[in-house]
Amino acid sequence: MPLPFPVTPMNPAYGYLLPRPYHYAVHEGFFSLERPVRVGEGLEQIADRLRFFGAMVSADAAAAIDLVAGAGLPPEGFTLEVTPDRIVLKAGDAAGRLYGAHALEQLLWIAFRWGANAAQLECGVVQDRPRYRWRGLMLDSARHFQDRETILATLRLMGKLRLNRFHWHLTDAQSWRIPAKGAPELNGHGDWQDGAYTPEDFVAIRAEAARQCIEILPEIDMPGHNVFLLGLHPELRCNPEVHGWEICLANPASMEFMKARLLEALELLPECKVVHIGDDECGTSHWDKCPKCQAKIRELGLKDSRALEEWFVNEICNFLLAHGRTPMVWGTHINPPKQTILQCWGNECDMVTCAAHDDNPVVSSIDHAYYLDYPQDDEDPHSDPMTPVTDMDTYCSTVGAHMVEYLGDRLLGAEAPLWTELVPQWRVRVKFLDRAIALSEATWSQQCHKHYRNFLQRKRGLELAGYTW
Ligand SMILES: [Zn+2]
Repeated sequence: MPLPFPVTPMNPAYGYLLPRPYHYAVHEGFFSLERPVRVGEGLEQIADRLRFFGAMVSADAAAAIDLVAGAGLPPEGFTLEVTPDRIVLKAGDAAGRLYGAHALEQLLWIAFRWGANAAQLECGVVQDRPRYRWRGLMLDSARHFQDRETILATLRLMGKLRLNRFHWHLTDAQSWRIPAKGAPELNGHGDWQDGAYTPEDFVAIRAEAARQCIEILPEIDMPGHNVFLLGLHPELRCNPEVHGWEICLANPASMEFMKARLLEALELLPECKVVHIGDDECGTSHWDKCPKCQAKIRELGLKDSRALEEWFVNEICNFLLAHGRTPMVWGTHINPPKQTILQCWGNECDMVTCAAHDDNPVVSSIDHAYYLDYPQDDEDPHSDPMTPVTDMDTYCSTVGAHMVEYLGDRLLGAEAPLWTELVPQWRVRVKFLDRAIALSEATWSQQCHKHYRNFLQRKRGLELAGYTW
């Protein structure tokens, strides 16, 4: 099978890097891989890969591949300098080291598989840095449960793709997957409850996230999406006799219950900086009919039930802020504290509405580009109003380029959610893979470097060389 485009001086191995780097230049000469090479500390991944290709790794070789600390590099950035006798990876932080090593590994795959006449890498320099600081995937573990191994594999995939936020949707109308020490009945079996995570799962998952330079943000969805919780705790409903989705906002026990669950989440994930509290898709009819909620509205001098929801959410946001965490909510109809991150979903118009909140930082999750539960093509199982979201849709999305001028630094980046009503565990990787690779370049690479056909050629070239994600 021929390469989509051959490796030549005009098309060097650097031309295959994915995501496409900020800048690269090719210089005279080659670094030969057909001689013993010394590999410096911190690059065991590279030493292993060289041995895999049958190259000689030797501690006293003259030719060397080294990792050095680079001052003044942008966060998560790295440089890679290839001269005839030395390759130097410079990084200022752990993410730069990880991403630089993955980039060098891609170059090795190309050099060994497609090197023009020998296993060699063109001399040159790669300077790389991310376009957006928020490059996320969301996994819904509430509708379908995924075991520890699937979560770990997802994190490893994310590390390779330089995706650095794992938004973990842990509770919903069907189940409560996060360990609830003070309410263990929540981790029992429910309608869809076929498993819950243990504190030991959290230890393993945190450790892998740290290795892959990923921040985990847990989501405990409130005040809506709580059918499962309210089935076990009807006293938190506005009317214990009436089934519903929203908790009673005025019952002090509701607030206490949620704060206790949030504190448990912080205990399980002590390094977590951002906590998502949902606040999506709430109706007001239960609150409108509830004597407690209506009395609270009068007591606080509020306009209506929606304003009471805003009061409740702000209390929870301020509670998280007091614990040194940043709250995050789904794009909202209320005004949360200005530090709260708004995750905008729906279409561009919804994003404009969402972003109209003064000062709040924004993450784009526009559905026709980033909703990975949508089918990848017409063959992919889906429910009806869903139209395909292809890897091209994800790739060509501009994240919010049309809004950059308006939002400026408030636009943190993008995140692709995978809702799992129709996605059992075995389909998670299939649903993520192609569109997560597209998301990687869409959020990492500069807009002016994006070219969908070229992206596909590089992806194909790496895969033909044997590289796997
Ligand atoms: Zn109520």
